[in-house]
Amino acid sequence: MRILVTGGAGFLGSHLCERLINQNHDVICLDNLFTGRKENIIHLLQNYKFELLRHDIIEPFLLEVDQIYNLACPASPIHYQYNPIKTNKTSVIGAINCLGLAKRVKARILQASTSEVYGDPAVHPQTEDYRGNVNPIGPRSCYDESKRCAETLFFDYHRENKVDIRVIRIFNTYGPRMLADDGRVVSNFIVQAIKGNDITVYGDGSQTRSFCYVDDLIDGMIRMMEQEEFVGPVNLGNPGEFTIMELAEKVIKMTGSSSKIIKSPLPVDDPLQRKPDVTLTEKYLNWDPKYNLDQGLVKTIEYFRSAT
Ligand code: NAD
Ligand code: UDP
Repeated sequence: MRILVTGGAGFLGSHLCERLINQNHDVICLDNLFTGRKENIIHLLQNYKFELLRHDIIEPFLLEVDQIYNLACPASPIHYQYNPIKTNKTSVIGAINCLGLAKRVKARILQASTSEVYGDPAVHPQTEDYRGNVNPIGPRSCYDESKRCAETLFFDYHRENKVDIRVIRIFNTYGPRMLADDGRVVSNFIVQAIKGNDITVYGDGSQTRSFCYVDDLIDGMIRMMEQEEFVGPVNLGNPGEFTIMELAEKVIKMTGSSSKIIKSPLPVDDPLQRKPDVTLTEKYLNWDPKYNLDQGLVKTIEYFRSAT
């Protein structure tokens, strides 16, 4: 198949492109290189089955493809808050452009949505039918609300135009090729520990997240695209739940670092708990994560040791 991956030069996108090329597909990676890097896909650039298209998803584009994975959108709070209006445009206009293309060429299209659609959740663990607790006017809203709107567009194109959609809600994912300085917690803690700098825990560190290793996530994403039974939304994430303080202590121990933990204020609207209910994921995708947090951290620490 010929497959379009928007955001294909980013952290998740580059792993997805690699996996699809290994499955012998032709891959077109569309990316404006805002948070993506050519280094992430350098090993694919010589492959005749791979094409990089430097393009901004908010501008229309015409392509002939069989499938579309829509990942284009900055994902770390620092980057999506850098230009919040642009983040809104990327998610919303980007979704409209991708859906218009999918409609025209009859391509199946998957949306990389997010656990952020649940906001600071009052239901725990989060099931797909939970409608969320999102602040519409806060600093995280440009991301949360535009991702919610993108989901709405996907389901409207599905109902009105019979576009063949798939929607996944990705929970915190980590692994090689995360940017060292994009402010996400796993990369921050590992880089701080390797450099012997203070480990910056925000708030009292009792807030929780569920961390999924990138290889597992990509596996689930492709399973969702390939299955015929349902369109989603489906949660995709490792249900193991850890406090941020537990993560900090784990990283210090596993790196053998002498770094000290320091606390700073919790960012506005930072969700206090997050864990996917994976009942639907198991039922429809027959998916279970292969890497527990320790196993994934070993690989990620190895990567940052060689990259920093
Ligand atoms: P990332 O920032 O590494 O990747 C995003 C990619 O999109 C980058 O290559 C960037 O250059 C590109 N991009 C951004 N704006 C664009 C635009 N206007 N036009 C074209 N390309 C553009 O982030 P990631 O972690 O790889 O996330 C990929 C997708 O998965 C995002 O849509 C994100 O919302 C979603 N997601 C990720 C996580 C996670 O934990 N990594 C969690 C939930 C959802
Ligand atoms: N966090 C932290 N120290 C850091 C970076 C993040 O304590 O250096 C916390 C952050 O406040 C949040 C959690 O770690 O509670 C996950 O943050 P991240 O930005 O990785 O993802 P998100 O908040 O989008 O889930």
